[in-house]
Amino acid sequence: AESLTSASADRDGELDVSLRPSGFSEFIGQAAARANLEVFIKAARQRGAALDHVLFVGPPGLGKTTLAQIIARELGVGFRATSGPVIAKAGDLAALLTNLEDRDVLFIDEIHRLNPAIEEVLYPAMEDFQLDLIIGEGPAARSVRIDLAKFTLVGATTRAGLLTTPLRDRFGIPVRLNFYTPEELVMIVERGARLMGVGMTADGAMEVARRSRGTPRIAGRLLRRVTDFALVDGAAEITRTIADKALLRLDVDARGLDQLDRRYLKQIAEHYGGGPVGIETIAAALSEPRDAIEEIVEPYLIQQGFIQRTPRGRMLTAAAFQHMGYAVPQGFSG
Ligand code: ADP
Repeated sequence: AESLTSASADRDGELDVSLRPSGFSEFIGQAAARANLEVFIKAARQRGAALDHVLFVGPPGLGKTTLAQIIARELGVGFRATSGPVIAKAGDLAALLTNLEDRDVLFIDEIHRLNPAIEEVLYPAMEDFQLDLIIGEGPAARSVRIDLAKFTLVGATTRAGLLTTPLRDRFGIPVRLNFYTPEELVMIVERGARLMGVGMTADGAMEVARRSRGTPRIAGRLLRRVTDFALVDGAAEITRTIADKALLRLDVDARGLDQLDRRYLKQIAEHYGGGPVGIETIAAALSEPRDAIEEIVEPYLIQQGFIQRTPRGRMLTAAAFQHMGYAVPQGFSG
């Protein structure tokens, strides 16, 4: 079963759609990325040209899809979305590309999971807005070239290193998204509570924000669950006490770590003396895919200063031992 705080997209629920910011003015945080994008979008509009291709890089739930939609809206163009694993055949991609109109945005989520043969189709499409297709089979096969509309590809991936170099090089605008600060998440939580029509005190909002793993998607999800607890308790508004009680019941600790995060730290502390220990060993011990650990669990633990990546493997920090309630081992240097 997936943990509540995992940031994967498929369980957002209907309300999440209405919490999604629809323009830059409603989008909180990522100030540097936003400021740059606004300049590039303005320039593209003034030229009447398609925006250069954009690559969003960052952990799940930080707003990559939302920003792609905002880009299309601010450009005043059409938006189409798909994802790497969904495109099974070159023909699927060709159908998408030939349906685009001038300056449209095509969003490809998890673009690192495109199959290599399909990626090859993308290169000339991104560079020259041309599609080279092979029609027919065997001796009758011939290749045809189709001109495409000048479109903007917006790709999203959890780690830039997962992309092949030729693909990565074809994005003129690479944008890294970072975890949100608690202050930014407070604003996101307060906006969500307003839209959902629930009362919330300032320290109630802070409590949800601090425990959202730096991730707006998780903030939205926790807010809905905390709201459920408050409703059933007959509370007039969400206070810090109510939020704390609800979040403990949901197994989210004071720093926002979920069960898997804590299992990860516990494993290294109890079985490997705090490390260093290799990622494959950790993945096997936790029975979780290595990718999920590297893309979802570790980025937040690193950002919080709980683990370090070293050439010899992962190491806990003294802060991690303390947070988990262990004594820091003698002579421990992590
Ligand atoms: P990603 O594509 O990076 O996985 P999404 O764009 O789907 O993330 O964002 C997840 C959810 O988090 C959205 O549905 C939206 O409600 C919320 N969200 C993301 N970024 C923000 C933000 N800056 N301000 C408010 N809500 C946000």
